[in-house]
Amino acid sequence: MSDEPIRLAVVGLGKIAADQHLPAIARDANFTLAATVSPNHAGVDGVSHYKTLDALLAGETAIDAVALCVPPQVRYDLAARSLSHGLHVFLEKPPGATLSEVAALVAQANASGATLFASWHSRYAAGVAPAKAWLAERTVRGATIAWREDVRVWHPGQAWIWEPGGLGVFDPGINALSIATHIMPQPIFLQSAKLFTPANRAAPIAADLTFRDIAGATITMDLDWRQTGPQSWDIAVETDQGTLSLAKGGAVLTLPGGEHRGDDGEYPRLYARFAQLVQQRASDVDTDPMRLVADAFLRGTRVTVERFDD
Ligand code: NAP
Repeated sequence: MSDEPIRLAVVGLGKIAADQHLPAIARDANFTLAATVSPNHAGVDGVSHYKTLDALLAGETAIDAVALCVPPQVRYDLAARSLSHGLHVFLEKPPGATLSEVAALVAQANASGATLFASWHSRYAAGVAPAKAWLAERTVRGATIAWREDVRVWHPGQAWIWEPGGLGVFDPGINALSIATHIMPQPIFLQSAKLFTPANRAAPIAADLTFRDIAGATITMDLDWRQTGPQSWDIAVETDQGTLSLAKGGAVLTLPGGEHRGDDGEYPRLYARFAQLVQQRASDVDTDPMRLVADAFLRGTRVTVERFDD
């Protein structure tokens, strides 16, 4: 790593920027927070703030990279503009609103030599790497995914999430798929899907999905945003040598031999990975989780359910 920290601008000062990005950047010596961009936010004390990315690019603040923490529907234009200025780009998940725009960004990054990082934060949860290593030596017989949370608690007033491209319940659900596509030893593909969409919304509030792996194991997925009380972000995988369970979004791993609880270092590990990619001038863009979601929208049966109001 060069001695000079990467001068980073965080674009989109919403929930995830405040909860995770700003604290992770503050603790990582590879980065310095050089600027922020957000149309309706006052910014961070002592850091240059701009209302738009164009204002930042036209301004005095020197930057090397951007972290785009905006809704997916506006991400492509911001990423393309950043790459065209030679900046390295960290994309929050999902990497875009469509697969074709992500492919266009990959081509642009490859041509420019800048780093493009499509981050999947759940892959950096503490239990995920040991789960992947354990499953690599076993035969999977089947798996279940239950991702049930209360949308009013986790996404209050986020209008974009209900709009086309906002993914609805797949906004958290894609995190489960980012883990599943990473830890399962065989490729998985969509077999069937049922999408439940409120009468007044464009995106689903719940979904039942079935996937298979290429060896024939079935993976079922229960996604629901109407959960009150205990929330679940759980994956269980049956193998020829017992059951693996990942709970709390990948943070807690239980194997037949016992439990593994790690730290809460998802975003610090994500930023360490971004720093490594920038140093190597490499990109890391895996669209497998997003392809499964796109397949659910392509193949799924639509069911209209009762209105949902925040
Ligand atoms: P959010 O709270 O709605 O924040 C999004 C922010 O983007 C808003 O604050 C808005 O700024 C800003 N923005 C919108 N258009 C912009 C533009 N053209 N230029 C600059 N800023 C713009 O959403 P979020 O929950 O942080 O989610 C953002 C992304 O992170 C989503 O893709 C989501 O899936 C992902 N994510 C979220 C979570 C989570 O727990 N919430 C976890 C992991 C990943 P103003 O407020 O200034 O208008």
